[in-house]
Amino acid sequence: MSVIKSTILGFPRMGSDRQLKKLVEGFWSGKVSEAELAEGSKNLRAEHWALQTSYGLTEVPVGDFSYYDHVLDAAYAVGIIPERYQELNKDSGIQAYFAMGRGLQNKNVDVRSLEMKKWFDTNYHFMVPEIADNQQFTLNSTKVVNEFKEATALGYTARPVILGPVTLLALSKATKGSTSKPLDHLSALIPVYIELLQQLAAAGAEWVQVDEPILSLDLDAAVYTVAFSQAYTEFAKVDGLKYLLTSYFDRLGDNLRLAAALPVHGIHLDLVRGASDLDAALAAIPADKVVSIGLINGRNIWKANLEQQLAVLNKVISARASGAAVWVNSSCSLLHSPHSLKPEAGHLDEETLGWLSFAEEKIEEVAILAAAAADRSSVERQLQSNTAKVLSRQQSERITRPEVQKRLAALDETFYSRQAPFTERQQVQRVALNLPLFPTTTIGSFPQTAEVRKARAQFRKGSLTKAEYEEFLDIETRKCIEWQDEAGLDVLVHGEFERTDMVEFFGENLEGFVFTKKGWVQSYGSRCVKPPVIFGDVSRPKPMTVDVARFAQSCSPNKPVKGMLTGPVTILQWSFVRDDQPRSQTAGQIALAIRDEVVDLEAAGIKVIQVDEPAIREGLPLRKTDYDAYLKWSVDVFRLATTGVRNETQIHTHFCYSDFNEIFTAIKSLDADVITIENSKSDLKLLGALEVHGYAAEIGPGLYDIHSPRVPSVEEMAARFAALQKYIPAENLWANPDCGLKTRGWPEVKESLINLVTVAVNARKTHAAAN
Ligand code: GLN
Ligand code: ZN
Repeated sequence: MSVIKSTILGFPRMGSDRQLKKLVEGFWSGKVSEAELAEGSKNLRAEHWALQTSYGLTEVPVGDFSYYDHVLDAAYAVGIIPERYQELNKDSGIQAYFAMGRGLQNKNVDVRSLEMKKWFDTNYHFMVPEIADNQQFTLNSTKVVNEFKEATALGYTARPVILGPVTLLALSKATKGSTSKPLDHLSALIPVYIELLQQLAAAGAEWVQVDEPILSLDLDAAVYTVAFSQAYTEFAKVDGLKYLLTSYFDRLGDNLRLAAALPVHGIHLDLVRGASDLDAALAAIPADKVVSIGLINGRNIWKANLEQQLAVLNKVISARASGAAVWVNSSCSLLHSPHSLKPEAGHLDEETLGWLSFAEEKIEEVAILAAAAADRSSVERQLQSNTAKVLSRQQSERITRPEVQKRLAALDETFYSRQAPFTERQQVQRVALNLPLFPTTTIGSFPQTAEVRKARAQFRKGSLTKAEYEEFLDIETRKCIEWQDEAGLDVLVHGEFERTDMVEFFGENLEGFVFTKKGWVQSYGSRCVKPPVIFGDVSRPKPMTVDVARFAQSCSPNKPVKGMLTGPVTILQWSFVRDDQPRSQTAGQIALAIRDEVVDLEAAGIKVIQVDEPAIREGLPLRKTDYDAYLKWSVDVFRLATTGVRNETQIHTHFCYSDFNEIFTAIKSLDADVITIENSKSDLKLLGALEVHGYAAEIGPGLYDIHSPRVPSVEEMAARFAALQKYIPAENLWANPDCGLKTRGWPEVKESLINLVTVAVNARKTHAAAN
């Protein structure tokens, strides 16, 4: 019989009530001392270990806790501290650490943060370490050793978690101007890791979890086989330690051979995203190694089908030689799951509650599986209850709406294309909209001021009636439109004052969604998001934005006001999505709902409709071989959502990134009339892509960065605009900011947009004079 261990790869850090957010933000604002931050965090860790142990997990991960981000922790621990933070680090380590995370600006210092990037294909963002040519590595923090000691002192069997050196370097970027690549520094980095590992061994650690999630990506085998074997051959020399090598978020695929050959003592398999690895892995992983199997999904919120996963577990156990250890695990860290379902009791209905599982419940699922493998009768009751709930979800009439399924299945090609090709549409739209050359517009939202948020809060509490709240919104909208008109903008927007969030707003107005009370997950630093849960077939009970759009248009007799919608891929990407049908199908249902809205907006007299898809790029799978399938359906659902209109109606879309080389063909196939896109931070990338791939439709590369309160001058935007005209035909070029303005204040928005209009007006004159 195999030895069964039960554990998870990591636990969410924020706490049941986002205590860590409060501690950290309190520390930033000076209300919480460093000692209080440390103490509060220590208590949180202890709570989280106690929770895991209370369900019977045999071992707890330590070092998965972080004040800000685990990649930042890893970089900071080995002394990857760029020059600009060095002074701070001499004074106070924690100041330097947080400055790397979020920048620091006061009367003595002004340093920007490290760059932030998406953690693989999750909605968590990590800080990108910067490595200079003359990079020196030193053991700068022993956080993981301290936390290991903390857990041991409390009596827990603890397993330190570290980010592996190869992934750390692979996720890093070279400091501007340096000629070396981060991975060139591996030999210099390894000794510092060894020093850390020796300290862990001395503190009594037995197993160390080394996270190397880049093994879920397409890797250059020649380069990475050398790098991995160099690092892990050295690691193997540390006396007394055993390593569990983990990767997650996708299959190991062709990296399996590389992983299985390393001198580590165990290998983790993500059997949720990488189920296809199983047979090959069982054959490839040497018999004396531990196999850790991630059976419980760390990234979604559905109750696991325990009988099904138990069958997989039993298969693994019988495939391993007797006596070989098998660990039952989460697929990845539970960082991407909300903390606990408990606060949802009384908020969500009983039936829905029965379908869900957050981090706390996932721990229990791991524990039940491990117990069942050893002695099924000990958890028979729990297994039966799980089966009942899984069946309740499969059979619920709330989930399947036959009319939605039928409608989606019955669509033919006509639902995926406009009536005429772009060039013809462009002619009729010119006549219908009568816009000047270089039309000016914005991306949708205007400042969500304290008054706007206050009115919404009062409406939610009931101290403002629906009629009062709507009147307030009408006044704000009218003011916003009148200001845009006066400022000389050409295509106006209503300002999105009624929306907290571009996905939540639509989720609340569609069938098939539920909203949790405390289902927070960390997005970056202290920022958490509460994604909607798509549990069933999606449909639109009634128009969602038509009244607002009609009112907004009525405030502007002479200029078009854009209808503003969020696209199907973005709604999908920023929600917890059902796992009982392909994502593409759920996206198709959302697309149909948006399509109906688009058609209704057109019927209400709206001539320009924008369907935002800022998340289309981030939905890209991790493996290149999976790109085409994703791009095919994501383009299809966008077209399904937007092609129900006449040629005269102008469809806009917007993305918040400019790095779209890999998906340029897909962007073209969206067949939008106008795209607005981020550009101000990366002119070259965008222009390079336009040059290489060609783009024939209208486009508005952002003229300034809205993430900063800084007002861009006419001169700087004019220079940018002139550069754009070299790549984009004048008749296709728009002038607009990078993204929505909701996080900005009115004074800087007004000044910036007035400057932007001036740039367009001057450019029209110059163009007229030259032609
Ligand atoms: N229309 C949205 C806004 O202006 C777009 C936001 C986004 O791109 N993330 O706020
Ligand atoms: Zn944007």
